[in-house]
Amino acid sequence: MKLIVQKFGGSSVANADRIRNVARIVTDTYQKGANVVVVVSAQGDTTDELIEKAHEIDPNPSKREMDMLLSTGEQISIALLAMAISKMGFPVISLTGRQAGFFTDSNHSRARIKKVDTERVEKELDQRKIVVVAGFQGMNRYDDITTLGRGGSDTSAVALAAELKADLCQIYTDVDGIYTADPRLVKSAKKLEEISFDEMLELASCGAQVLHNRSVEMAKKYNVNLEVLSSLEDKPGTKVKEVTKMEKLLIKGVAKDDDVVRISMIGLPDRPGTAFKIFSLLAARKINVDIILQSVGRDGTKDISFTVPEDSCDAALAVLEEAKDQVSDFTVDVDRDVTKVSIVGSGMQSNPGVASKMFEALYEADINIETISTSEIKISVLIRKDQGVKAMNAISEAFIK
Ligand code: ADP
Ligand code: ASP
Ligand code: MG
Repeated sequence: MKLIVQKFGGSSVANADRIRNVARIVTDTYQKGANVVVVVSAQGDTTDELIEKAHEIDPNPSKREMDMLLSTGEQISIALLAMAISKMGFPVISLTGRQAGFFTDSNHSRARIKKVDTERVEKELDQRKIVVVAGFQGMNRYDDITTLGRGGSDTSAVALAAELKADLCQIYTDVDGIYTADPRLVKSAKKLEEISFDEMLELASCGAQVLHNRSVEMAKKYNVNLEVLSSLEDKPGTKVKEVTKMEKLLIKGVAKDDDVVRISMIGLPDRPGTAFKIFSLLAARKINVDIILQSVGRDGTKDISFTVPEDSCDAALAVLEEAKDQVSDFTVDVDRDVTKVSIVGSGMQSNPGVASKMFEALYEADINIETISTSEIKISVLIRKDQGVKAMNAISEAFIK
């Protein structure tokens, strides 16, 4: 018998009508003879509202308690969806992350899945029940609830699909597929019929939140048959796969990441070991550093700047204070007003003009580039935050015809 994992995001389960709509999609699939596992997110803006509630009490709450709080959002959704499916006359059971066997590490608010013990899910499927699982959550080895990071329900769905060797993993959302850029921000964005795991992984890591980046990583590793489609319109979505057809498009997508803070260290000693000392201290604290830029040395000093996500900024600054003792005194500057805009596409490897075309588009839109970073299939620039959407549109118009 076929096994299909279907995941529905927050807007797809936002209210009673939407939940009934999801119940119809799920039961249609079930009636066609497939076994169905459903993964759901918290309704609408529930997760954001819960974060706000927490901050009313403490702007810096314990991460363990935060996970305890946020996991309740998904628990509401599974119960309501199971009720809707049951009301339609189908056998169904809802399971929390823990009941569905999600074991994670203890990195609260950003936990990684270590294994999924699917015994319970399989037992319920054997009885031909529709199994509704809470996304985004798991349990660590101390029996505490963890969450997988914002957008993590996609990863719950792909992990289940991989472990259950599902025939298909469908990510239902509020757009009808993956576009060359966020269609809500960029008018010229085009829908893609398919995209490779590598390209999608870069796009997701560069801020395209349509798929959680770890979900793509996992889908690639276990070769999960993955597709993104709309829960509101019945039409084909976008397939994410290992190898895709040759495309005319020079780039596959444009993405923007506003969750970027640039930290600059000014007046560092220009001698071997400086970067090593600082970045090894940052690494020891598990601070994820992204773009690094070093100036040319002059008068025995140099400047280095790097970017981190907003929630790592305070920790990074604390590390730099510590580093001053080990390296020598230097000045630190923090800039929260930047955004990172990236283009992604495996086609750029064999087309030398891609970078200059991107820079030309930004120049014509009168946007100043502050930092550039490149990899095999990606070019990123840092620019002023308020120019992010304008930059995406300018780049999209230059590339997407
Ligand atoms: P869900 O709640 O279903 O998980 P998300 O808000 O996490 O939905 O992801 C869907 C959103 O991702 C879309 O509404 C769209 O605004 C945004 N998005 C960003 N980049 C892209 C892209 N390249 N293609 C499609 N959607 C994108
Ligand atoms: N509810 C969580 C969030 O808003 C997880 C998810 O939607 O995937 O980030
Ligand atoms: Mg999402």
